Order: sequence, then C-alpha cells, then structure tokens
Amino acid sequence: MVDVTIIGCGVIGAATAFALARYDLSVVLLERENDVADGTTKANSAIIHAGYDPEPGTLMARLNVEGNRMVKELARRLDVPCKEIGSMVLAFDEGDLGTIRTLYDRGVQNGVPGLRLLSAEEALALEPNLSREVKGALLAPSAAVISPWEFCLALAETAVKNGVQLFLNSPVTAIERIEGGYRITAGERVVESRMVVNAAGVHADRVHDMVAPHAFTTHPSRGEYYLMDKSQGALVGHVIFQCPNADGKGVLVSPTVHGNLIVGPNAEPVDDGDDVAVTAGGLAFVKRQAARSVPDINYRESIRNFSGVRAVTDRPDFIIEEAAGAPGFIDLGGIKSPGLSSAPAIAAEAVKLLARAGLALNEKPAFDEQRRRVRFKELSSREKAALIEKEPAYGRVICRCETITEGEILAAVRGPIPPVSIDGVKRRCGSGMGRCQGGFCGPRVQEILARALGVDQCEIPQDTAGSRILTGRTKQSADNGEKGGAGV
Ligand SMILES: Cc1cc2nc3c(=O)[nH]c(=O)nc-3n(C[C@H](O)[C@H](O)[C@H](O)COP(=O)(O)OP(=O)(O)OC[C@H]3O[C@@H](n4cnc5c(N)ncnc54)[C@H](O)[C@@H]3O)c2cc1C
Repeated sequence: MVDVTIIGCGVIGAATAFALARYDLSVVLLERENDVADGTTKANSAIIHAGYDPEPGTLMARLNVEGNRMVKELARRLDVPCKEIGSMVLAFDEGDLGTIRTLYDRGVQNGVPGLRLLSAEEALALEPNLSREVKGALLAPSAAVISPWEFCLALAETAVKNGVQLFLNSPVTAIERIEGGYRITAGERVVESRMVVNAAGVHADRVHDMVAPHAFTTHPSRGEYYLMDKSQGALVGHVIFQCPNADGKGVLVSPTVHGNLIVGPNAEPVDDGDDVAVTAGGLAFVKRQAARSVPDINYRESIRNFSGVRAVTDRPDFIIEEAAGAPGFIDLGGIKSPGLSSAPAIAAEAVKLLARAGLALNEKPAFDEQRRRVRFKELSSREKAALIEKEPAYGRVICRCETITEGEILAAVRGPIPPVSIDGVKRRCGSGMGRCQGGFCGPRVQEILARALGVDQCEIPQDTAGSRILTGRTKQSADNGEKGGAGV
C-alpha cells in the first residue's frame, strides 16, 4: 500500500506531487490522459493574478496572494518562463470607477503589494494603445504571465525525479474503502493507498462521488480565446482587464510570456467538462468586448483559437477539505481562476490536511530541484557552436518559426516525463508555437519522436490518445521497410 495517491495531473495535482516529493513517502500520481497538463491547465489566460479580485477572508483571497509569490519563486528555481509585467483593470464609466476603488480596497485587505489607482492620463501614458474612452485604472504591479503547461511539467518532472510514480493513461473509474485506506481502479491498474488527493479538475465532483456522499457539483463554464502572432505582442505591455462581473474576470488583452498576444475569454455554460469547442458566437463576443479596451488589434494576425473549461461549482470558494466520512481523502475541487496562480499554496494546504489525517512528514535527506532546459535560440553564437560541436542534433532546426532544434526535442525525450505526441513536444520545446502552428514542423517532429521512442510513426498522435494523424502505412512504404516515412 502506498502512502498517497493523487488523481489528476494538471497544475494542482503536479503542485501537490511536488510538495510531497520532498518527504520520505511513497506517492502515486494517476492521470487519465497520455500526458500531464492536458486539461484546463493548458488552456487558460496564463495570468498569475495579483489577488485583489477574491473577497477578503476567502481561501481564494489568501491562497492567490500567497501563490502569486510562490509561483514566481518556483518559476525562477525550476527554469519556467514567467514575467512580472503587472496588470491594469480599466474603468469606462462612474460605475467602473467605483468598482476599481472596491478592488483596490479588497486588494489592500488581501495583502496585495504596490496597488495604485491611475487617472485616465496616467493609464494612457503607460499603455498608449488603450481606448480613449478609459476613465481610470487599477494598477497591480505584482501580476505576471507564465507558461502554464511548462509550470505544470516542471513541477511534475521534479516530483518524478524525486521518486513520485506517475502513471499516464490511467483514468480512475472506481474507489473502494478498504482496511487502512482505499483501493483505486485506474484503467488496467489497481492502486492501494492510505490517503488520496482528488485533483481531477472539472471532474473532481465525480471522483469525490466514487467514495463519499455527494458534496459539490461542477457546472463547467467554457472560455474561448484568440491567440495572435507576435506581430501583435507589443500592443500592450500589461495584462489589460475590464471590470469583473458575475461570470468572472471579463475579457482581457495580454502579452503572453512567449511574446504573442492573447485575447479572451468569454464565459459559456457547457454540459460537458471536456467540451473545448470554439464557436463563432463566442469569438465574436470576445472580439467585441476586447475592442472596448484595445481597439486596434489586427485579427488577421490570429494564429489559433482555443478554449478551456472552468471548474465552477455550486460553492463560491475553492473546495479544499477532507471528504465527509472518508478519512484521508482530500478534495481539491472547484479550482477555477485563480487556480493557476494559487497552485503551490493550494498544494501546501493539501499537505497540511494530509498531515492532520495522520501522514508523517519526514524530509528526505536529498531533494533534487535542479531543472535547466536548453533554449537554443537564446544562446550566444559561441554557445550555439559549442553545443552543436558536442551534439550535432542542435544544428538541425526543426521548427523554423520558433527556431527549435532536433537536439531540444531529443533532450525532451530523455527527460523524466517523455512526450508521446506532437503537442507533447510542443509543450516541452515550443515547436509548433509560431506563426505556422506546426504546419511545417509537425510531420518532422512526428518522425523524430517516432524514431526516438522506437515506435511506428503512425503511433504518434497530435495530442491526446486517439487524435491520430496517420492511420496506416501504404503498401509501398511497408514493402520498402520505411521507418519514419509515408502513411495515409
Ligand atoms: C478560461 C479560463 C481562464 C483561466 N485563467 C486563469 C488565469 O489567468 N490565472 C489563473 O490563476 N487561473 C486561471 N484559470 C484557472 C486555472 O486554469 C485552473 O484553476 C487550473 O488550471 C486548474 O488546474 P487543475 O489541475 O485543477 O485542473 P486540470 O488542469 O483540468 O487537471 C485535472 C486533471 O485531472 C485529470 N482527470 C480528470 N478526471 C480523471 C480521472 N477520473 N482519473 C484520472 N485523471 C483524471 C484530467 O485529465 C486533468 O489532467 C482559468 C481557467 C479557465 C478555464
């Protein structure tokens, strides 16, 4: 029997695994998909919120402000792209001016550092591309932008390097109470565990119901986005919000940590927590709303639309508690925004609850936190030449838009959680993130990955299991014994 099993490896499961990995414990991480960070964690606004939005006294308020500090520190230590660019909430009328004053007061109560109320002139001086209709703004310098999937990966990889066992393709379908713990069925796998952490995102209510009386219901809310080419990335320098409303933080316009511009999201109730469609109506709404803040976005430069689903529940706050009647079973449910910003602080709460349920926390003598990734395009000419000399694969550029080399892809395959899909390589190396969105490099990445993993190219999907690109081999390519080549 292992000590702790974590269900779900989005940023919340990964942060919990990372937090537990420094103790002398046996920890299992079960994820239903073929990779980590494949749920809401890969499809959100990627903002590390400052923390003025949540009501004072809530878990969200405390954990957002603590998390903001912790995420930035962890990103630095684990080599995750994160930039503290600050955020602004715009006011367009008297009502909004009242709202930003309220947000300022809340922020002060929540302990957010450096908040300032700006006049229209001050806001426009900082951001000349804002609408001339702006009447004032709230400035929060501690807000940041991050690569959310790389943050999740960095936490999960470090946990795995330090002994956490990750099982992908392991959807949990049943949990049974047994003497001293729980028996968890996850696909072909059965795990017996003293304690369980439920970090299943939008499906946390269903996982909870496998073992305890119903306690909360997820009402999934989808948010759709435009991702713009880097030509638009400098249109604003801060995260630009509008005043929040009942549906969330409203439509934002923001540079991404990779230098693109992100515009969105809307808030659309959906029946299915896995429904990540984008709709003409949703995107039209996003465009209309965003134009109020930044009128001159050139949507011809849009390179991708995507959506993510919020784990909104019938309870207004994060749900971080031991399930009633299920000792040692910890729910981390309703982790909607600011869940990404709060992730390490939520994980710390989970560890406290596990300790209260009887988990002994003895620190390991050695905890390896070293994580450095080669970003070839950021090296000097001399460093590039030295690297190519040592490993010629760094001399072969595979993704031309983002200058990602074969060496970087092969390094990802040698990493603690090797990618198994084209998007898995994208999340680790950045290939396919540029203007052509993988149109040119996708097939080459597929070929390199197949070769490196020693599998047939037809077995490499675009992303999740079943998202096949090649469905079979032509007779001619099979007769020729081609390894990486043609398919149908
Ligand atoms: C539109 C939108 C914008 C947002 N913007 C921000 C933002 O800017 N800043 C911020 O702080 N937060 C933001 N959030 C919130 C943030 O993205 C989430 O709080 C965070 O990603 C939640 O992480 P998670 O690990 O709980 O969920 P997920 O990332 O969804 O992870 C849950 C994992 O559990 C797995 N799983 C589910 N069921 C099972 C099962 N039965 N067995 C095994 N595995 C299972 C899933 O496959 C998934 O990988 C936003 C959310 C949305 C939707």
